[in-house]
Amino acid sequence: MIELDDVTVYYPKAEEPAVSGVHLSLYPGEFVCVLGPSGAGKSTLIRTINALQPVTEGQVLIQGKNLQQMPEADKRKWRSRAGMIFQHFHLIPRLTVQQNVLTGLFGKRRSFANAVGFFNESEKQKVRRVLEEVGLLDMAQRRVEALSGGQKQRVGIARALMQEPEVFLGDEPVASLDPGTARSVFGILKDVHDKQHLMSLINVHDVALARSFATRVIGLAGGEVIYDGPPDQLDNGN
Ligand code: ADP
Ligand code: ADP
Repeated sequence: MIELDDVTVYYPKAEEPAVSGVHLSLYPGEFVCVLGPSGAGKSTLIRTINALQPVTEGQVLIQGKNLQQMPEADKRKWRSRAGMIFQHFHLIPRLTVQQNVLTGLFGKRRSFANAVGFFNESEKQKVRRVLEEVGLLDMAQRRVEALSGGQKQRVGIARALMQEPEVFLGDEPVASLDPGTARSVFGILKDVHDKQHLMSLINVHDVALARSFATRVIGLAGGEVIYDGPPDQLDNGN
């Protein structure tokens, strides 16, 4: 379980907090969509949860342990349990789908060298398994630069799955895709989430997507939680 206990985040020199007084408890199995306009604090919230952004006040608790006070090695371990999916994919364009997916096995720093090097049979099998989950098995040897946006994000999901995550954190993962593709990629995310009983926290700005897929919606505005509940009770136009 992940808990945010009265979390406030100020960036250096900022007069207003980016996130303000947030209380949340996030449980396994929840598919949480965070809705809010640009600048609402969605991205900052995600970065507090994976320990990329320190909190100014309050605490983030991972299974009851204060994230900020964890030794660096434990923070890294936690990050490796949290699969990240990014708006702009953060793939390596000139490498193949398979090579990109393999980078999910390694830390960011060593990922390039490892991905172009040798890997063993069980690693290759794992790649095939995760590519099958996102429907890209037949594209394993294609270069990522030749793929469509939706296919690239499916590679991003497959890469995150290589970590065998307990948690999915998505920072606007479908915001760069056209509406139809966004919906199908979101559907894949939800399927993988359900199959693996993950805890997912996904930033979106499309209310319709949250309505269709979320088990819980958190509305952020000006850094504050203004809604926390089921998607079917969202106001129209909210
Ligand atoms: P969202 O993801 O909802 O667009 P962000 O978390 O990116 O919102 O931003 C929340 C607020 O914090 C905004 O006012 C933004 O300008 C500010 N902010 C975000 N990142 C930084 C940063 N690195 N330094 C200073 N201010 C930032
Ligand atoms: P986007 O524009 O896709 O939202 P950003 O470029 O804003 O992504 O990056 C979001 C954050 O994630 C940055 O702090 C960046 O350093 C970090 N980041 C980017 N790529 C990776 C990666 N492969 N693994 C871990 N962190 C990453």
